[in-house]
Amino acid sequence: MTRDLKALISQMTLEEKAGLCSGLDFWHTKGIERLGIPSVMMTDGPHGLRKQKTGADHVGLFDSVPATCFPSAAGLASSWNRELIGRVGSALGKECQAEEVAVLLGPGVNIKRSPLCGRNFEYFSEDPYLASEMAAAHIRGVQSEGVGTSLKHFAANNQEHRRMTSDSVVDERTLREIYLASFEGAVKQSQPWTVMSSYNKVNGTYASEHPVLLSEILREQWGFEGFVVSDWGAVNERVASLAAGLELEMPSSHGAGDSKIVAAVRSGELSEEQLDQAVERVLRVVFQAVDARQPDATYDAEAHHALAREVASECMVLLKNEDELLPLARDSRIAVIGEMAVKSRYQGGGSSHVKPTRLESIREELAAVAGSEAGLTYAQGYHIDSDHIDEGLVVDAKRAASEAEVAVIFAGLPDRYESEGFDRTHLRMPANQEALIAAIAAVQPRLVVVLSNGAPIEMPWLGQTKAVLEAYLGGQALGGAIADLLYGEANPSGKLAETFPIALEHNPSQLSFPGEGDTVRYTEGIFVGYRYYDAKRIAPLFPFGHGLSYTQFEYSDLQADRTELDDTDTVTVRVKVKNVGSRAGKEIVQLYVRDTESSVIRPAKELKGFAKLELQPGEEREAAFTLDKRAFAFYDAELADWRVESGTFELLCGASSQDIRLRLTLTVNSTTVLPKTYHRNSTIGDLLADPSAASLVAELMKSWPFPAMPDGEDDHGGMMQALANNMPLRALVSFSGGQLTNELLDGMLAEFNGR
Ligand code: BGC
Repeated sequence: MTRDLKALISQMTLEEKAGLCSGLDFWHTKGIERLGIPSVMMTDGPHGLRKQKTGADHVGLFDSVPATCFPSAAGLASSWNRELIGRVGSALGKECQAEEVAVLLGPGVNIKRSPLCGRNFEYFSEDPYLASEMAAAHIRGVQSEGVGTSLKHFAANNQEHRRMTSDSVVDERTLREIYLASFEGAVKQSQPWTVMSSYNKVNGTYASEHPVLLSEILREQWGFEGFVVSDWGAVNERVASLAAGLELEMPSSHGAGDSKIVAAVRSGELSEEQLDQAVERVLRVVFQAVDARQPDATYDAEAHHALAREVASECMVLLKNEDELLPLARDSRIAVIGEMAVKSRYQGGGSSHVKPTRLESIREELAAVAGSEAGLTYAQGYHIDSDHIDEGLVVDAKRAASEAEVAVIFAGLPDRYESEGFDRTHLRMPANQEALIAAIAAVQPRLVVVLSNGAPIEMPWLGQTKAVLEAYLGGQALGGAIADLLYGEANPSGKLAETFPIALEHNPSQLSFPGEGDTVRYTEGIFVGYRYYDAKRIAPLFPFGHGLSYTQFEYSDLQADRTELDDTDTVTVRVKVKNVGSRAGKEIVQLYVRDTESSVIRPAKELKGFAKLELQPGEEREAAFTLDKRAFAFYDAELADWRVESGTFELLCGASSQDIRLRLTLTVNSTTVLPKTYHRNSTIGDLLADPSAASLVAELMKSWPFPAMPDGEDDHGGMMQALANNMPLRALVSFSGGQLTNELLDGMLAEFNGR
């Protein structure tokens, strides 16, 4: 339904307009009854609905209505499956419709700068391309049901420590290539109805009042059409935030923000047009929700639970499987060890904490898939709510393990180890769980460890186990999914969306995380995650993109539809993948791009495409990727734009960032015409590297004071060439014995730059 929003706004008082720019209460926008403007609800998100029945808080303290709990984002991203995440989004959208929720607060697309960040379980990846693709699919799914999303937390919100006051100090190129890129792709592809500005400052200014982020970049450059909502309590100065482009303050400021806006308009500090525009943006989304509302919507909780199980099994990553210990035979005698098998950790703590419609028990689901409880014994092994080693429990567990054919230990991080609100300080599991693994390994070499955690852990015990399944925080159907994977009912197909380092100290952010006081300098720059481990050749425990299957895949025939292109063209790349094992399975094919030579420092390779293929035994299919300028470009802060440098690029196609199977070389020609800005301190080398400067070089060389223009052919020549390359033009004046004067040089440069 089309409405004349401007006409509607013209009927409002100044106070009414200001009122629409903040919440009614914790979760609702304000309505204006006399004008037929309804109040709508926004609530968390992102991997399940958290609609509170009573009370209101933003950290999950109060109870909420039952809703399907899907795996959290760290798991979802490990599926690398856009279609599947779209289906999760659509299921979430249906639950929102049934509960009359207009906007779901998610997804969170912040980059995992450090594995310590307490909220990493809610974020997708360390890689901006993968993160943005996952977020875009999530948004498309939710919004296809007529429910809005809130892409959060914009921007550079990568830690919980001092999250409401910290200042992320990030250079422009790093911001664009890493921290903003994950938002950019999602905004451009899927137009979230809202974007949530984060708590922190970015380069000295609160994100909630950052005009460059909220207006210039988000709206003008990326074309965002919805409204910006503050994170809950993130507004610092209401007038500054409105002027910067933050339309809605949440939760209600109980009139405080509204009166500041009214006063600012009255004093002329804020123009009424600016306020009108903010109101219009809020109303557009409110009415979008109203028009899409399905009054009698319900959802099929059983179908959503079944989807949660399917999704969970695609999110889990088989990290190790020596001697093909997995899958297990249904009739094996198995010792199920660890309290997490009965008190499972299936979601994270804080604002995303949902009350599941039901919860599968790992132990019961193992029995259900095995077909009987007969072969399964259970031993608690440790207390989940303590780090204390209980020798009695260890002895019982050892007995159970030694009497069985296989031991499966359920371990990971308890709630108290990771959550919204604080960061971890180390990557270890509780001491009692680590000790248990060592004790069991001593009596049962056929040992599997199943992990439930939201982010990487160190695994000093890895060598003592034959198999490790990373189940992440698998949602309410984790039990069934784990059982399906362990018994081979489902074939593992998840791959890591983040690097697992051997030790925390190897992480690139380690020397500047979580900062000093409120200042966090992102000193590692663009070298986040695998970009760093690759460049430094630091072997990770498990690399980005790694994940095993019960079948094997062969790659062949990597081809591009052109070998040379301009940066304004696109190129389509194809590769064939064949299932050469005996089980059906899915393979995540990854395409990385590497610039072979560059004048700026670039990562060894960057992910620019991926596809997930389902293949029957013996079946071969093709994956196709289209690459455009962005796949080859870096962000040139001086130019304030993306730029490709002409030259050759390698395309690396493989099964993980460290398992590259095929390579191909392309030539890409830049169409960017760089402004000529040569000056007295430009070097001769700079000029020589620029073919268009040949005439200027020839002119300058007339005053070259040394015997012959060095040709670099002998040692002397090489040295002379290096000297010349690093010599500023002004030095020619001193060395030319008066032939070249300052005036002449300045004149030549002015003439050349002016061309
Ligand atoms: C969190 C957001 C959440 C909001 C509402 C904040 O503390 O950072 O992610 O959506 O609360 O619960």
